[in-house]
Amino acid sequence: MTQLKFYKKIVGEKIIKEIYTKAKKFQDKHIVCISSTHQGGGVAEILNSILFLFDDIGIDFGWRIIHGSPDFFTITKKFHNALQGGKIHLSKRKRETYIKTIKRFSAITHLNHDLVIVHDPQPLALIKFYKKKQPWIWRCHVDLSHPNKILWNYLKQFIKKYDHLVVSAKEYKKNIPVKQSVIYPAIDPLSLKNKPMQEKHIDNCLSELEINLDKPIIAQISRFDKWKDPEGVIKIFNLVKKKVDCRLVLLGNIVMDDPEGLTIYNKIIKKYNHHPDIKILVNVSDNDRVVNSLQRKSTVIIQKSIKEGFGLTVSEALYKGTPVVASNIGGLPLQVIDGVNGFLHHPKDIRGFSQSIIKILENEELRHNLGQKGKKHIIENFLITRLIIDWLNLMSIYLK
Ligand code: UDP
Repeated sequence: MTQLKFYKKIVGEKIIKEIYTKAKKFQDKHIVCISSTHQGGGVAEILNSILFLFDDIGIDFGWRIIHGSPDFFTITKKFHNALQGGKIHLSKRKRETYIKTIKRFSAITHLNHDLVIVHDPQPLALIKFYKKKQPWIWRCHVDLSHPNKILWNYLKQFIKKYDHLVVSAKEYKKNIPVKQSVIYPAIDPLSLKNKPMQEKHIDNCLSELEINLDKPIIAQISRFDKWKDPEGVIKIFNLVKKKVDCRLVLLGNIVMDDPEGLTIYNKIIKKYNHHPDIKILVNVSDNDRVVNSLQRKSTVIIQKSIKEGFGLTVSEALYKGTPVVASNIGGLPLQVIDGVNGFLHHPKDIRGFSQSIIKILENEELRHNLGQKGKKHIIENFLITRLIIDWLNLMSIYLK
């Protein structure tokens, strides 16, 4: 089981001491998080690390997962898309299914905690069904900069009941009468997904999946989601391939709270699976070891998102010293500093993406420099220990 003391060798003693000191005042507190899935996607990734570390430092954190039918999650995925600016037909049926599911879940979810933290839109409306005995925080991980107005006006009635809204970048703050903070997400350097691996284990892991290692690999590791634009990645690959021989790996997972994933995956497989240099993988077993291996073995990691609240996959790759070429949108420029640890391009600039990838593929020294700086940037800004401190600081406003 993870223990905070193990992180001393990565972040230094001062940070670990600061965490223990700040945590002291919450030893008798009882906190609960509510989210939509315990695995797959960035939120589950973070909670799977941070909650166990909170437990290790003596803070009693529970984690509940909202129960819903496939219909409920189809509707909440539409909410997710519309919060990021997509269109939605917000019918009476959709609103009723959303509210009824949440009401039903509230009947079996007893919240006598000192603090409630709700993640993302799926369980957002829960607050409507409780006599508030404690502070409630809504932690929204998506890009809220230009939400669909109709949906925003509907969800605002619930958001306004919260004591605090936490977003992933300052551009996502909203003009509503609720206190707001920015907390950047972070990765766990000691998780199976991020911890060091030996070269032979990396090669074995990828060979088991029949990923041929005879040519440089470029990869995108993301859910099959229109916002992650997997087809755009293939277009970039086709341009790169005209100049440098390489392989593309698209590794993705289809998760319970994202029912669109299967349709997008099927479309991609049908169109591109025959290509000898494109490998498309989904829901692999031993997922974390595979992600770790692929992020280490790839010469370049791509993140060609059209919208991206933060994009943990980018921090994961940079931490491993792998350069990233990403879209200049959402939370990606917080992690990729153009020309320093990777390159940024407008999501429509397929040619720009391909030119940067070619530059990295052809220049080992550049690759090395970008990689070194990437790792340093993540250690300094996006590790789980910093995230723990940010949460302890926020908790201290509400838990006396
Ligand atoms: N991920 C994974 N297996 C996959 C694809 C993605 O474990 O096949 C992980 C990835 O390593 C990262 C998370 O899912 O930890 C995705 O988080 P991100 O913030 O990039 O995107 P989200 O899915 O939350 O939009």
